[in-house]
Amino acid sequence: MSYISEVRAAVAARNEGQPEFMQAVDEVLTTIAPVVESDCAYKNNAVLERITEPDRQIIFRVPWTDDNGNIRVNRGFRVQFNNAIGPYKGGLRLHPSVNLSIIKFLGFEQIFKNSLTGLPIGGGKGGSDFDPKGKSEREIREFCQSFMTELARHIGADTDVPAGDIGVGGREIGYMYGQYKRIKNVYEGVLTGKGLTYGGSLARTEATGYGLVYIVENMLNAHGDGIKGKSVAISGSGNVAIYAAQKAQQLGAKVVTMSDSKGWVYDPDGIKLDIVKEIKEVKRGRIREYADAVKGARFSDGGKVWQVKCDIALPCATQNELDENDAKQLVKNKVIAVGEGANMPSTTAAINVFRSAKTLFMPAKAANAGGVAVSALEMSQNSLRLGWSFDEVDAKLKGIMKGIFDKAADAAQKYASPADYVSGANIAGFIKVAQAMIAQGV
Ligand code: NDP
Repeated sequence: MSYISEVRAAVAARNEGQPEFMQAVDEVLTTIAPVVESDCAYKNNAVLERITEPDRQIIFRVPWTDDNGNIRVNRGFRVQFNNAIGPYKGGLRLHPSVNLSIIKFLGFEQIFKNSLTGLPIGGGKGGSDFDPKGKSEREIREFCQSFMTELARHIGADTDVPAGDIGVGGREIGYMYGQYKRIKNVYEGVLTGKGLTYGGSLARTEATGYGLVYIVENMLNAHGDGIKGKSVAISGSGNVAIYAAQKAQQLGAKVVTMSDSKGWVYDPDGIKLDIVKEIKEVKRGRIREYADAVKGARFSDGGKVWQVKCDIALPCATQNELDENDAKQLVKNKVIAVGEGANMPSTTAAINVFRSAKTLFMPAKAANAGGVAVSALEMSQNSLRLGWSFDEVDAKLKGIMKGIFDKAADAAQKYASPADYVSGANIAGFIKVAQAMIAQGV
């Protein structure tokens, strides 16, 4: 049995019942084989055994009271996966589906993504199975305070710096930051995605979506094409989806779909983002309301956005939202490029369909790294006790996304095949972390 197969079998045996985590591990292990097999240092230093086992997994009780005075209990998680190249860094997700497998898959991916940014940040992830939907302001605040009451003892500006993810935006980060400060009595950049009046960075809100579109533009340019004039299908209508749509429109594309967990809208004239923002960011409503507000737009609560003909597909909602059949439909409709805004939105079978069809495909680790990259810039600004302008941060983001594209493209060319950005991103991300782990000893 090869070293990789041995490790894969051991990881599967040790992590039974964790399908998302195994999916993420499998994708990395299969693509880094050419590198791992070319140098026995990886095996001699047990790099794969170590990189697939988190440094620390923290699971805790989060009690809070609802508006009727009932005591409720949720489960909190923080997985500190790897800090070989910097403090643990990765978001917090609040969604009823959250479990250890999901947090571990996200934390594992984060190791390689953060490495690709070129910035000094390790990998971690956390969250809770708390469902923020339908909760009052007071309930959200109390939950966040209770969550942070335990989390505070495990994190710190030089230890572990969480951020937002699904269900965690500026409001939740604010409540958590306030509670951290109250407990620790230090004013430090322990969370990113903070509000602009208390240490947040300009362009952090936009960063993941903008970064996604920048790297897709880099990929298209490398193949003699560009975003201008293209039609774009986007799933989701949260932070990543909204700012991906905004940047795509700014670059001259037409965004024709958006969705949420209850359905999707199609607007043949192009999505009006001010209306989406009003529904989602201000009223915290459902995407269905878009079709009520815009003439000619259509809402559907069946099927998915991927049935719509488009040139570019940007899945920006959640894991495994684009399956083999969706991929086949997109290929049939002659999609040119796919960029993953969400984490692991495409199933393994879907990626294989894109690979066979030679569809340009930018995987999440590279494509959505703009968010964490600007989070790292927020950490720098907090340490320096100053703030950069929107244009300065945006220019740095653009440079970082170009750097990520170049690293993924070069590694693909050297170790896999040109334009195999899945392999390229995994390999480039892996090499840096593995070298740091070897250098630092066991
Ligand atoms: P938000 O909570 O802002 O938005 C999530 C969107 O996806 C909503 O439209 C939501 O619909 C939809 N969605 C979530 N879960 C499901 C589900 N199970 N089925 C169908 N739709 C779902 O989250 P973000 O935009 O921040 O995150 C989206 C993705 O991007 C996630 O995979 C996240 O890990 C990834 N990501 C986010 C980064 C960031 O900076 N925010 C950075 C890098 C990656 P509904 O409102 O109905 O739940």
